[in-house]
Amino acid sequence: MKKVVIVGGGVIGLFCAVRLRQGGAQVTLLEAEREHPSVHGPIASAAAAGMLAPIDREASPHEKLALESYTLWRERHVGAEWADGVRFDGVAVVSASAEEAAALQRHAERLGASATPLTSGQFRKRTGLEAKVEHAVFVDKEGVADPLRVLTGLAMQARAMGVLIEFETDVASVTANWVLTHDRRTYEADIVVLAPGVWATEKLMTAAPALKHVQPAKGQLVSVTLERPLGVTLRTGEFYMAQRRRDVVLGSTMEFGRYDRAVDPARSEGLLAAAEALLPGEVKAEGGAWAGIRPMSPDGWPMIGPSGDGVLVAAGHSRNGWLLAPITAEIITAHVFGAEMPPAWAALSPTRFGAS
Ligand SMILES: Cc1cc2nc3c(=O)[nH]c(=O)nc-3n(C[C@H](O)[C@H](O)[C@H](O)COP(=O)(O)OP(=O)(O)OC[C@H]3O[C@@H](n4cnc5c(N)ncnc54)[C@H](O)[C@@H]3O)c2cc1C
Repeated sequence: MKKVVIVGGGVIGLFCAVRLRQGGAQVTLLEAEREHPSVHGPIASAAAAGMLAPIDREASPHEKLALESYTLWRERHVGAEWADGVRFDGVAVVSASAEEAAALQRHAERLGASATPLTSGQFRKRTGLEAKVEHAVFVDKEGVADPLRVLTGLAMQARAMGVLIEFETDVASVTANWVLTHDRRTYEADIVVLAPGVWATEKLMTAAPALKHVQPAKGQLVSVTLERPLGVTLRTGEFYMAQRRRDVVLGSTMEFGRYDRAVDPARSEGLLAAAEALLPGEVKAEGGAWAGIRPMSPDGWPMIGPSGDGVLVAAGHSRNGWLLAPITAEIITAHVFGAEMPPAWAALSPTRFGAS
């Protein structure tokens, strides 16, 4: 039985743990933080909006992989412990012009989604919001995860399957075959998978140089309340709003190069002002604001595969880590078991950024 040690228990590490165990590996997951994450902590997955949005406004090089991952979410949530933490309501995208809306509709249809232009009345019916919008399109392929619910559920699922999860276990260094923690425990492995988000230390970067390519981008979110539940996710050029299990989240800023998680009130007010301009009097900021740090890669797509001397990395998921977690787990599993690597998966190799 292959012995795999995963470093990092965000959505990427947890999805990999579950999938590798399903594939027959003996899996240990080491996570520096405590068991129940908070939106205010360092784990990007906990602070995220959680949207599962495979259809961008325009074509992108790995759009088929994004769709594949979305399909995996739809399949994997059925019967999962955390199934109540995800919903697949679709998205209403507000465009600046009729041309922009038509282009989005064509793009979404090319990718096999159902995309329908919305009149003002249809927009109100879909969203439950009173806004007068001129150009909006409803796209059916989009969902949203409630990050705290799903992270907790994934950990429970992994444990129930026999994954050993050690929280509050900070990894100091790794090689291809062992992991050493700061409190000097050693874990042996046939393969080590590094999924540390944006928090890799120098020592982890020495073991897997690809991790040096991961840079921070701070994102700020606001929890808001509405008169009625939001029927679908809403996206405009300036903000998005998504109904989760217990809140509606409004986001987000994109602040490159920032590691600090301090809330900047001016940024939250900017988001609220954009929402107020489209939806006068409908959005109330009652749930507070927080910030998380996205692990950005140079091209915005993750690095998945070998780096350094025989270590696997699954990192740099940028603004789509929730969406891409299931496909990441598939690719890592294929690497661990030496399965054939389809070209689209191989294209996410960390080597695309040079020697790593
Ligand atoms: C504001 C915001 C909004 C976002 N919205 C979306 C969205 O709507 N949809 C979407 O798909 N994505 C979204 N993202 C992006 C997504 O959250 C990230 O891409 C994803 O969470 C990255 O997951 P990860 O597991 O790689 O990193 P993380 O979630 O940060 O997990 C890494 C884990 O590794 C642990 N770790 C690090 N070093 C060590 C060590 N030495 N020893 C032990 N443990 C260690 C950390 O404690 C951490 O728990 C958003 C992000 C932010 C910040």
